[in-house]
Amino acid sequence: MKEYKLYYDGQWKESDGNEFTEVENPATEDIIAKVPKGVKSDVDKVVQSASNAFNEWNATEPSQRAEYVEQILDGIKNRQEEFVEAIVSELGAPKTFSEKGHLPLTLNEMEATLNEFKTFNFKEETKGSTVIKEGFGVVACVTPWNYPLNQIQRKITPALLAGNTVVVKPASMTPISAMILADIIDNTDLPKGVFNLVTGSGSVVGDYLTKHKDVSVVSFTGSTSVGSDMYKNAAPNIKKVVLELGGKSPLIYLKGGDVELAVNKAATTFLDNAGQSCVALTRLLVPNDQLDEFKSVIKDQYKNIIVGDPTEEDVDVGPLISAGQKETVLNYIEKGKEEGAEILLGGDEIDREGYFVEPTVFVNVTNDMTIAQEEIFGPVLSVITYDNVENAVEIANDSDYGLSGAVVGPHEQAIEVAQKMRTGNITVNEAQVSPEAPFGGYKESGLGRENGVYGIEDYLEIKAIFS
Ligand code: NAP
Ligand code: MG
Repeated sequence: MKEYKLYYDGQWKESDGNEFTEVENPATEDIIAKVPKGVKSDVDKVVQSASNAFNEWNATEPSQRAEYVEQILDGIKNRQEEFVEAIVSELGAPKTFSEKGHLPLTLNEMEATLNEFKTFNFKEETKGSTVIKEGFGVVACVTPWNYPLNQIQRKITPALLAGNTVVVKPASMTPISAMILADIIDNTDLPKGVFNLVTGSGSVVGDYLTKHKDVSVVSFTGSTSVGSDMYKNAAPNIKKVVLELGGKSPLIYLKGGDVELAVNKAATTFLDNAGQSCVALTRLLVPNDQLDEFKSVIKDQYKNIIVGDPTEEDVDVGPLISAGQKETVLNYIEKGKEEGAEILLGGDEIDREGYFVEPTVFVNVTNDMTIAQEEIFGPVLSVITYDNVENAVEIANDSDYGLSGAVVGPHEQAIEVAQKMRTGNITVNEAQVSPEAPFGGYKESGLGRENGVYGIEDYLEIKAIFS
């Protein structure tokens, strides 16, 4: 079994502690790797490494920084198969989705950011001053397990390009992709200390890292509750925070739209990563008098969904990340039944090794039910009916979250509805998100934006020089 180390000062290093976290394959329940359970003194050393490297990196020409980041991109391209294997085994994402989803997402977004960066201005002349943009210092990047490579990429690409140095703390359940990335970076010319990696529990290492006085920016993706704590913890030192949090995203179907498309759009987001995507369209809003039609289209499309061993090519849905996540999802399904929603499909665990739950669709859901308000992070869809379009928008916006959304319907009306939705991302009909567009949430879904120019700006200090 592979045993990993920490990475800082441009080298692989032993942890000061002597404990390890075991990484489990959620499809087989086998232990597949061990990573150091870092301790506070490790964090001090890792932050010191990043801090030492900052001044020189921040003073490096942006085009030179971009060249180093290009080397990282090339490294990822060259080792795609290894990443796919890691994502399948540590997360349980189906092989096909790892190949066609996780990897292209990472490569496309990274390329797009690099591309936008080519014309990015670090210096602007304004009335009476020269405005200069530069890195903050050390950025702590704390990432979740659902997209083990891309969640890190979304933070380090803009943070490094902007002139910051980084300390990555990946999710304890999926550190292997992070380790491959560190190995790629170790093989580039990136100056030592610019990229650093520490593993360990969120409550110890993550907490200590994000409160560290020498960390200037906390960039976090994960649950709203941890994000809220980080926001509080950033206050004493006035740290900048970038938060990408949860979602409970609506898809509004408008009369006259393509029913098959609406069902398929919801399905691709809430089944692909076993529903463990923050942008999953988990509330499907349909007109009262079309519910029966939706029920039959949903049943029809779901006949073909294959749940099972994620290493198999034709599998659509793999296991959930852990025993704990499986229990959480099953509890939500129970709660849905208790509160009066009706199961159209699925609703049970799957009796086999690994953490599998049947793709589940609830109908007769009202928006005040727990399953319509809380993020489940599993393959569970709630179908909610509405009376008229105004009512649909009200239901869509009646959420503490505001991450993504979709509208399927006659084009002009769909755009009008999209403009009324209080979420950071909305796709209309067949449209797909583009990698240079800003990604982030309204309300409790977050603070700040990732990707493209918007992502870079979040990692920049701004100075006005009058001369
Ligand atoms: P989580 O528990 O918030 O953990 C995310 C990361 O934070 C992990 O690296 C975790 O470390 C660390 N962490 C946990 N407690 C911490 C603390 N007290 N101080 C510092 N760091 C801490 O979230 P999760 O369960 O991994 O991921 C699921 C959630 O993330 C969902 O709510 C989902 O919507 C959200 N998410 C949002 C986006 C987005 O872009 N908006 C993307 C993906 C996921 P350990 O792994 O060691 O616990
Ligand atoms: Mg957690």
